[in-house]
Amino acid sequence: MSNKSGLLVCFASPSGGGKTTVCHKLLERNDDYFFSVSCTTREPRPDEIDGKDYHFLNKKEFEEKIESGALDEYEEVHGNYYGTLHSAVQEALDNKQVLLVDIDVKGAITLKDKYGEQCLTIFIRPPSMEVLKERLINRGTETESSFERRMHRISMEMNFGKHFDRQVINNSLSDTVEEVETIIENKRTGIMEAMSNGS
Ligand code: 5GP
Repeated sequence: MSNKSGLLVCFASPSGGGKTTVCHKLLERNDDYFFSVSCTTREPRPDEIDGKDYHFLNKKEFEEKIESGALDEYEEVHGNYYGTLHSAVQEALDNKQVLLVDIDVKGAITLKDKYGEQCLTIFIRPPSMEVLKERLINRGTETESSFERRMHRISMEMNFGKHFDRQVINNSLSDTVEEVETIIENKRTGIMEAMSNGS
């Protein structure tokens, strides 16, 4: 029997907190880790690919997904819909993969409620608000008004950290990636042990 279990790992952080970079690094280092491609009504950014970064849908298509029960959770973030596909979660769990979910704070809590021990929620904390602001500016993806909207949301998001299974301070990317990887692998082993003990 494999000593690895499938696991949903939800990463949330305030905008610019670094969770997307952490996810990419984890994917490079682990071939049984996969990325959950969410649905969104947001416009694609220039470097984003439909079906790889997101499934880009219009509002009507998104609402059809909601109505047909295709989404495990969805939220309106910064004026757009974002949602996690049930089929992606099931496929990963059935194949004992780790599914990395880049998600907002509320969506992470919804998935935790739904999937319990099969779900690990990790809150990536930026070292400080100043660093956060700087990262968001350097990323260069925001207009002035979307920057303001994101900054406004940040204090709400920071307060959510305490509801997560684990919080990791993202001081250095390589340390954060190693720490998160250890947390994930310990969790997978714990699930397998619990299963083999019949609990
Ligand atoms: P962005 O527009 O920067 O790609 O994402 C905006 C926010 O939406 C981020 O916090 C991101 O993690 C979150 N997000 C991305 N996909 C999902 C999803 O499927 N569900 C929810 N609830 N949030 C998501």
